[in-house]
Order: sequence, then structure tokens, then C-alpha cells
Amino acid sequence: MSVKDKTKALAIHCIDFRFQKQIEKDLEKRGLLGQFDRIAWPGASRDFENVSKASELSIKLHNPVFAIIYEHEDCGAYREDNSPKTHRKNAQRLKTFLEGIKPGVKITTLMVTFEGIKKL
Ligand SMILES: [Zn+2]
Repeated sequence: MSVKDKTKALAIHCIDFRFQKQIEKDLEKRGLLGQFDRIAWPGASRDFENVSKASELSIKLHNPVFAIIYEHEDCGAYREDNSPKTHRKNAQRLKTFLEGIKPGVKITTLMVTFEGIKKL
């Protein structure tokens, strides 16, 4: 393999240890283990400046077919505003940015909760 090889997907999620098992299981269910680029950053799409830069690099280097943005409830990086509306707004901003870099890329935005993973 070379650095120019393609990947199936790009996964973006928060660093929070409480949600890693669920995210890993979801990626496994999608048949992606070992076949995706991963960006783990506090707050995921909340830090647009850093996460957009890292995502852009992943797309340019590995040309993923689709991307999954995992937001999660009770995120420390969001502090007091953990409303789904705010998570959705940030995820949407990142989604629009990624679609701008690679038109046609399929992007799924999800909300990881203590009860399971839901559509955002
Ligand atoms: Zn978090």
C-alpha cells in the first residue's frame, strides 16, 4: 500500500472514552474496521477550524467514499450548550464543507447517546 491508496470512509468523533465502544461497534457493523481514516478530536465538529483541516487532508490523501460524523450527548467540549440543535448545526457546517471539497461524498451525521446511536 502507498499513501495514495484509497480508503472507504472517514470517521470523525470526539475523544470521550465513554462513547468509544459504541462508535467502534457501529464502524464494525458497517464493515469498516481497518478501512477508514479516523479523526478523534474534543467536541468533534464543534472545533470546525481544526477538524475541517484534518478532514480535508484525509480526503485529499485517501479519497474516502463516505464520511461519518459522530456527535455525542453530554459532550464536555460543548459545555452548557449540549442541545441537539447545536450539535446538528456544527455537524451540518462540517458536512457542507466536506461536500465542497469532494462533491458527491456521502456523509452521515449521527448522535451517540448513552442509549444508542441515533440520526442527528
Ligand atoms: Zn465530547
